[in-house]
Amino acid sequence: MPVCSNCGHKGTGKFCAECGQAFIVKRVTLLSILNEVIHTFTHFDKGFGYTLKELIFHPGTMQKNYLAGQRKNYQKPFSMLFICATLAGLAIYWISRPAHLNVTPFEEMREHFYRHYFVIFQSVMTPFYALITWIAFRKKNFNYAEALILFVYSLAFLLLLTILTNAIDLIPHRFETYYIEIPLMTAYFIWTNLNFFNTSSKWLVILKSIIILLAGWITSNLATTQVIHLMMQ
Ligand SMILES: [Zn+2]
Repeated sequence: MPVCSNCGHKGTGKFCAECGQAFIVKRVTLLSILNEVIHTFTHFDKGFGYTLKELIFHPGTMQKNYLAGQRKNYQKPFSMLFICATLAGLAIYWISRPAHLNVTPFEEMREHFYRHYFVIFQSVMTPFYALITWIAFRKKNFNYAEALILFVYSLAFLLLLTILTNAIDLIPHRFETYYIEIPLMTAYFIWTNLNFFNTSSKWLVILKSIIILLAGWITSNLATTQVIHLMMQ
């Protein structure tokens, strides 16, 4: 029978029933220290890959399963957002194109804003997006915190998608990535809601999703414009 190296309790299975430590403790290595440092800042763990895979193939269902109690295999929502937002922020900063010629000072500032603050801005707006999602789909057994989790996971994935669309921007082409980004994100958002609210009428879910997107888009544009005017003063 294995003996716990932390508290001395004897037991069976992988973990000590008394204190929770694993019976087999690996030796400390430089790699394990590096892992611990990274984990301290990002809480990155094995669940990241699985969460990402589920967000790609089963959006909405993933959040539904998480909220229903399948927590252990997933990266936690806010650390998922933190990791994806950091990656997207760095990618946009490095690969977004410099200002075009012949742009107004306002447009120049808007590009500057997008390059430096877009990801932070969208993260700050999350509680509001979650609020309109909650209001639109308000029903029994769906609280605001759950709407927040639903949205935080979706936003994490959508921010990763912006890395892709910004990367496409690097290839010389004749069209704006805007034309891929908007339909792609709209489709993803609707697909997520169709899976998450799969007991509601499909057309109602699609209609509500479009209303949420429009409300979110208008609010985010108004707020961005205000911030840019303030930055220009
Ligand atoms: Zn123990």
